[in-house]
Amino acid sequence: MVEFKIERTTTPTSAEQRQALMADPKFGRVFTDHMAVIRYTDEKGWHDAKIIPRQPLQIDPASTVLHYGQEIFEGLKAYRGKGGAITLFRPEANAARFAASARRLSMAELPEELFLGAIKELLKVDHDWVPSNPEQSLYLRPFTISNEVFLGVKRANEYLFIVLASPVGGYFSGNGSIPVWVSETYTRAAPGGTGEAKCGGNYAASLLPQQEAADHGCSQVLFLDAKERRFIDEMGGMNVMFVRKDGSVVTPPLGGTILRGITRDSILKLGRKMGLTMVEEPVAIEDVFKAAAAGEITEAFACGTAAVISPIGEFRRESGSVAFGDGKTAGPVTMKLRTALCGLQRGEEPDPFGWVHSVSL
Ligand SMILES: *Cc1c(COP(=O)(O)O)cnc(C)c1O
Repeated sequence: MVEFKIERTTTPTSAEQRQALMADPKFGRVFTDHMAVIRYTDEKGWHDAKIIPRQPLQIDPASTVLHYGQEIFEGLKAYRGKGGAITLFRPEANAARFAASARRLSMAELPEELFLGAIKELLKVDHDWVPSNPEQSLYLRPFTISNEVFLGVKRANEYLFIVLASPVGGYFSGNGSIPVWVSETYTRAAPGGTGEAKCGGNYAASLLPQQEAADHGCSQVLFLDAKERRFIDEMGGMNVMFVRKDGSVVTPPLGGTILRGITRDSILKLGRKMGLTMVEEPVAIEDVFKAAAAGEITEAFACGTAAVISPIGEFRRESGSVAFGDGKTAGPVTMKLRTALCGLQRGEEPDPFGWVHSVSL
């Protein structure tokens, strides 16, 4: 076990201030007092693991990440269950995906033990920030940047791994169904590209289509496959699922361009356990427009750690739109899956999968 050096802030947020900040934290703007940091160099490997007061970084303007974008991240949540215990949901799956992202971006791979250790050590120091409101959680953002001072294009020989923690409410403001823009202009990921890696660059490329969506009154974008623009891949930061009239649930298969969502995988397994038919098969966008209009597809939802399960009210594109169900409220299968998943994540439901880690403080 690697020892983390713990350096506590001398100016901690008071309980009163914290309460005010956590009353309605929204998403990603409120941060805890500390952060985890581990350094890497080719000579020393991963070293200098510590928990320190949250503070700005000092990096050289020639640092490689600022020029060539070697950056990967993860997103997971710490939950507080009814009894007050703090849980993590499948954090080892995040560690494994983080390592896979590092390989694709040719970055130093962080061992799982360090990934989990950094999160647990940070939680020990900042556990007061895990909300007890069941609508909220503590979002954890592990990420690695390359940090060599060099303008040549090559794999960097220095890296910095950091974990930030941020108490959050729902990802989407309001709790109704979201309208989603189907981008026919832009794609997110091509075969052989970085679609399966959780890297900042993918998000940078999604911001213009995101703007296009906003111009059409949509808060999210749906991307189609880059080859034929025929099949549904996923949304900018969430996977997508559809519910058919017979109650079966269908989602596009993983094939290199879709991010391997842990929420996606959990819903597939949980749904099967609940007796639902869960199908992974290519979903053509034309078929969805037709089937939703004909009432053959009755529900659609986005899924991911930040969004959990968010109902999709309608798809919009240049040639028109189509609603799922009544276009406003979450359907029964969406709600059933959401309730089951949330109960499991908070450690309030039996966990036959061994997914829930309780964090000992
Ligand atoms: C993070 C992410 C998801 C969701 O993954 P989870 O593990 O469920 O949080 C889906 N798509 C993209 C592009 C993502 O970056």
